[in-house]
Amino acid sequence: MKVLLATYEATPIYKVGGLGDVAGSLPQALKKLGVDIRLVLPGYKFIKKPPFLPGSEIPVYYLSHPKYFQKEHLDLTEKESREQFIWFSRQILESLPSWDFWPDVIHLNDWHTALVTTILKNNFSQNGQYANISTLLTIHNLAYQGIADLKMAKIGGLTKTQVHPVDRGCFNFLKEGIISADALNTVSPTYALQVLTSEFGNGLEKILNKKPVKIVGILNGVDYQIWDPRRGHNLPYSYNLAAWREGKKKNKAILEKRLNLKPENRPLLGIITRLSEQKGLDLLLAKNGKQSLLEEILDLGCNLVILGEGEKTYVQKLSLLEGKLAKRQNFRFLNLFDDKLAHLIYAASDLFLMPSRFEPCGLVQLIAMRYGSLPLVHRTGGLADTVRDRITGFSFKRYNRQDFFRCLKSALNFYPSKRWEKMVEKGMEADFSWGKSARQYLRLYKKITRSKKYGKM
Ligand code: ADP
Repeated sequence: MKVLLATYEATPIYKVGGLGDVAGSLPQALKKLGVDIRLVLPGYKFIKKPPFLPGSEIPVYYLSHPKYFQKEHLDLTEKESREQFIWFSRQILESLPSWDFWPDVIHLNDWHTALVTTILKNNFSQNGQYANISTLLTIHNLAYQGIADLKMAKIGGLTKTQVHPVDRGCFNFLKEGIISADALNTVSPTYALQVLTSEFGNGLEKILNKKPVKIVGILNGVDYQIWDPRRGHNLPYSYNLAAWREGKKKNKAILEKRLNLKPENRPLLGIITRLSEQKGLDLLLAKNGKQSLLEEILDLGCNLVILGEGEKTYVQKLSLLEGKLAKRQNFRFLNLFDDKLAHLIYAASDLFLMPSRFEPCGLVQLIAMRYGSLPLVHRTGGLADTVRDRITGFSFKRYNRQDFFRCLKSALNFYPSKRWEKMVEKGMEADFSWGKSARQYLRLYKKITRSKKYGKM
């Protein structure tokens, strides 16, 4: 089986979020199953471009153009970002002869590369080796769709009639991908059902429901080479299951000292997140009278650290709160993207908050479990599929301030206790490695290629 995985990020080459983790680790698990897998990434000017995914023999191709991927950062206008990913999508197909690599499946990820399916179908699949290529589109987050002016379609060699117009003379990359891909999947079983509803379908539920092949949910895994307190990768103190209490205590002391937090043996709560509406920040900032929920949480007697980058409005609100609460020494907001610090926060914290409004899969809760920090989550999408309430973490059902706070208060009632320790150990032992999910992807690749040959999924 030959697979080309197309993505806009892959750790450790370049990462902005969970897709980076997935694209850096799923290929390694597939390689172990005998798949000839290769990656294609944008040749961003500001990244190092190793020819193989570090630590593996997986080839990585980089595509760039004098007009695209030439900035020193990713702060692009919407128009620039759309243009460069239309170009990237076409260039992937143009490049196959020069790489002399003819994949059985091109595995696309999110809106950035979704148009490969449409360009393949309209402009390439009639010719020679292109005719044998199947496509799988993985939807990591349906909320981001990539909408562009119809005029831009020509950058990908598409005419206006080869795409489906949406509002105000535009077309929608993800919608095109959904229509043209041979198969679709999302990153958890619950989210695969949720995207078919008007609440979570982001306007695409109708075409998702019309698709003749069922959308499959395959959970993301965690790369335990990178995320494991035993390895001590990026940590001052490594620890294993037997010594987690001591390990956590030492890492906690270091983090609290570094961030000037009161070290009064109180529970430390962690949040590591993109600052976007999806992640439930509105619940945290919602006011009851004069106080935000965040302040009420601190009044329960805990410390809270938030590490996150993203939307300006949240940066401003959280920075303001940090200033207001400075004297109390129990809240720090770190507006950075810092992988090393993220490792320390996972290791140092006792409880991890993930009140996401919706969550396709979520990796943070899986990583937190491995580091002995109990996730407290809104029971939705992948969070519902991975966190077992009062066994490996805590969850609340309805997305509102009261239920979140109630759940948090009852969680803290357990801290510290034998029951809490048992839950920590259960979470640390839980296995979310890539093996099982990689086998599911391989099965899906086989199914699509078989149906290309014999006509039925
Ligand atoms: P997303 O929706 O952003 O993909 P996930 O939970 O799937 O959310 O994955 C987020 C990944 O990005 C995790 O590995 C998390 O540790 C990392 N991450 C998020 N924000 C930051 C940050 N500010 N600094 C370092 N790592 C971060």
